[in-house]
Amino acid sequence: MIKTLTLNDRPWAAGAKNKYRCFLGQYQRYDCGIFLDPFIRRDDAQSIVTAFLNVPQQLSGLAKEHELTVSISGSQWTLSNNSSTIYADWFHAVKRFVSPHVEFGRRSMQGLLLPHFTHELCHLYWRTHLTRASRQAYTESLRKSMSALDVDVTEYCHSLFVDYLRYVSTVDLTRTEVQRKLVALQYLESWVEESFCETVACLRVPSYPPPGKWRSTVALATRRQQIAKHTGLNVDSLEILSA
Ligand SMILES: [Zn+2]
Repeated sequence: MIKTLTLNDRPWAAGAKNKYRCFLGQYQRYDCGIFLDPFIRRDDAQSIVTAFLNVPQQLSGLAKEHELTVSISGSQWTLSNNSSTIYADWFHAVKRFVSPHVEFGRRSMQGLLLPHFTHELCHLYWRTHLTRASRQAYTESLRKSMSALDVDVTEYCHSLFVDYLRYVSTVDLTRTEVQRKLVALQYLESWVEESFCETVACLRVPSYPPPGKWRSTVALATRRQQIAKHTGLNVDSLEILSA
């Protein structure tokens, strides 16, 4: 089955001076329940479907409910200059108009598809599924569990943790106290959301990040419990599932 998305279905594509219009048009439905750009090569489509079938079930269920569409960029990076990106109208109250789309850069296709797919769908879970109270409870729990000496699960989310710590430990005289609190909150929220997505990817894919690439101090078993308790997301490792 083919569905055709227009600006009426996906108004966010008109944002940034129509930068995202390339995500309109036709998508082909696959049996796994998501829609792929029909111009994706067959072997790439198969890799995407296989990865999708291996993300945690609560995430794939949410993606199907939202009729997720997927494409691959022509270069190493996505249109937003990441390895992979999820686009959506996050603030739309009607599910149909959230209209999420995942774009993979060629870099993701080189052995990183499953962790990157898991990461992007975690944004969907974080933003559309969790209540504000759940997000706040997880944020508080994560903040309390990390000291300045700790190293988060991947280099990417650790850099956001460092940015947050740096901001709250320096005196920003260019802003009022109310503004400083707001900026600190933005740094905190950005770190916590990306850390949540990266942690779920690490929990799901034991080889992510690749061995020797990054040394984290985080006890993943504790993180798994924190995530289950505050966000309701249960993540089993694929290693355990296939044992
Ligand atoms: Zn992210």
